Amino acid sequence: MPVEVGFIGLGAMGLPMAEALIDAGFSLTVYNRTASKADPLVARGARRAATPADAARPGGITITMVADDTALEAVSLGNNGIIERLGPGGVHLSMSTVSPALSRRLAEAHARCGGAYLACPVVGRPDRAKARKLWILLSGPAAAKERVRPLLDAMGQQTFDLGERSDAAHVMKLVNNFLIMSAIEAIAEALVMAEKGGLDVPTVARVLTSSLFNSPMYQGYLDIITRGAYDPPGFKLKLGLKDIELVLGMAGEANVPAPTASLIRDHIIEGLARGMGELDWAAVALVARENAGLKR
Ligand code: NAP
Repeated sequence: MPVEVGFIGLGAMGLPMAEALIDAGFSLTVYNRTASKADPLVARGARRAATPADAARPGGITITMVADDTALEAVSLGNNGIIERLGPGGVHLSMSTVSPALSRRLAEAHARCGGAYLACPVVGRPDRAKARKLWILLSGPAAAKERVRPLLDAMGQQTFDLGERSDAAHVMKLVNNFLIMSAIEAIAEALVMAEKGGLDVPTVARVLTSSLFNSPMYQGYLDIITRGAYDPPGFKLKLGLKDIELVLGMAGEANVPAPTASLIRDHIIEGLARGMGELDWAAVALVARENAGLKR
């Protein structure tokens, strides 16, 4: 009998992750707010759920990959939410990038119903999800972590266990994304300097990624920015605002000054004000260009 799993949120990330689970032989019940986005999965044998609760079964496993805190609350709590329906023995595998505070609240709500909440955000963009090469960050109760291991192995190349705390993996994810955003910001400014200094920008990118900046993150973002490949987006700038605000919220709660994060937030807001919200978040580089008097 194939293991049955619920999957909620079939956006840029959720769809390829769900496809990876079908490829690996899991039987899926899928829910998406815009129902038509489930069509490719239904065509491959997934069952379409009418509500988030309908994508959960008592004592089962349900994955959420929705946009933000508001969306995760909407599909988790309340009459049509998954928490009560999952009930005793149920596991909520929460893979969105959300606030540590919400993950603590949801962990308590699941525990009250006898279930478990696993914080499980992912590192890697949709192309990595399609290639089953995500890096997965995981924290929560040990028995639930053991139970979801085959699912994670089907979606990712490596899982990092960050312990039992319900919010630890989300803290790790925000630290990770703060570093990505800082790198995008630095790349954006550096490439404008290079261009105005008369250099060939693709050559600059090649030198950097063949030497000190030989890492997937620098390679990926230098490539996107050098080619101006912001559309279609892998990760939308408007969701980038959500992430930098989560970073600032986490830093503020712990009395950690984060001046770089404040600056990045302002540049993202500048991008949104200039109509870039649906572009890839690397479009912060367009803000840097325009601020230096260069054309988009
Ligand atoms: P996306 O393409 O915008 O998809 C967002 C999903 O959330 C859609 O299924 C959307 O449903 C659903 N949603 C939004 N608001 C909702 C609400 N109020 N109630 C119910 N469902 C709602 O975003 P994504 O890029 O897949 O990102 C999903 C999550 O993964 C985010 O937390 C993001 O930060 C994280 N993440 C993204 C990347 C990346 O590179 N894209 C990488 C790592 C992590 P509709 O289809 O109805 O709009």
